[in-house]
Amino acid sequence: MNRVFNFSAGPSMLPLPVLEKAASELVCYGDAGMSVMEMSHRSPVYEAIIAEAQAKLRAIMNIPENYKILFLQGGASTQFASVPLNLLNKSKKADYIVSGQFSKKAFDEAQKYGDVKCIASSKDKNFTYIPKITREDIREDADYVHICFNNTIYGTKYSYIPDTGDIPLVADLSSCIISEPIDVTKFGVIYAGAQKNMAPAGLTVVIVREDLLGNARPETPVMLDWKVMADNDSMYNTPPCYAIYMAKLVYEWIEEMGGLDAMKAYNEKKAAILYDYLDSQDYYVAPVEKEFRSMMNVTFVTGDEALDKKFAKEADAAGIKNIKGHRSVGGMRASIYNAMPIEGVEALVKFMDDFAKNNPKNQ
Ligand SMILES: *Cc1c(COP(=O)(O)O)cnc(C)c1O
Repeated sequence: MNRVFNFSAGPSMLPLPVLEKAASELVCYGDAGMSVMEMSHRSPVYEAIIAEAQAKLRAIMNIPENYKILFLQGGASTQFASVPLNLLNKSKKADYIVSGQFSKKAFDEAQKYGDVKCIASSKDKNFTYIPKITREDIREDADYVHICFNNTIYGTKYSYIPDTGDIPLVADLSSCIISEPIDVTKFGVIYAGAQKNMAPAGLTVVIVREDLLGNARPETPVMLDWKVMADNDSMYNTPPCYAIYMAKLVYEWIEEMGGLDAMKAYNEKKAAILYDYLDSQDYYVAPVEKEFRSMMNVTFVTGDEALDKKFAKEADAAGIKNIKGHRSVGGMRASIYNAMPIEGVEALVKFMDDFAKNNPKNQ
């Protein structure tokens, strides 16, 4: 069977060379005589895998030495609680920007733990833009500020990194991590579920500045305490071994692609094909304000629900899979993460153009 173009928002496509490499090592890894799935996480062979995964992520993202990299479980959603549990420890105030559904969930979860305020939201325009905030919007004694950098469902991305001064900036990068270079030093904490752009589901990566460790609230479950995880090299308990191994293969693939600068150039090229097409016609509407367009998740609608439905159905039959928008937004969403080849985007645009010609709208 041929592989399809899978535009799923997550879990999503993995690079074919990564899948092939994993397949070649599936039954016997190196000379271990067993699969990575069967290994003790305490074995020297596995310890080398996790150490290498960490080193490679540090290298490709240019993560300074004063940041810890944690390989955890529970998805980005668990971090919605871990963030306040680890950081809401001085004034017990935190400021959140609500730019979509995931940041709203993070905000709701954090409210259980203190004085948590939404300082800006783009709900007024159905999350089609990113609010601009300045230092004046942030409470001076806030323990941290939380943002979601790329909004997977709405297809928006920050066009700037908010200046929070000395207050740690915490960012959910689930759907844009390792899609382009980012200045890690601007953040106190970065976290991401792996299943969008890094690995299969089951792994959550947390990148945390060392000085923010060690002040978790007393009620923090040990499994959510970043300090405990950092002190144990992410092996306080059994880590998601196989997903970490897959992440390592993805990091190696990125190195082979030329690192994050090359990845960015490739992603920009793909996104431009789609956005240029959207801007050149009036059959489809791309609701997101241009400045805040995501390079990873591209949303568009025909303006007619029945046509949207037909589009998704016919696209599926043509090998363009999972193009239906999130149930809360409708329309279509093309998730074009690192692993989506340029041919996939070209095929989508051709399909869109044919569909528009074959399905004229009633005037
Ligand atoms: C998918 C996603 C989440 C939820 O991730 P889980 O790993 O399923 O908990 C959170 N934030 C963003 C930005 C996402 O794209």
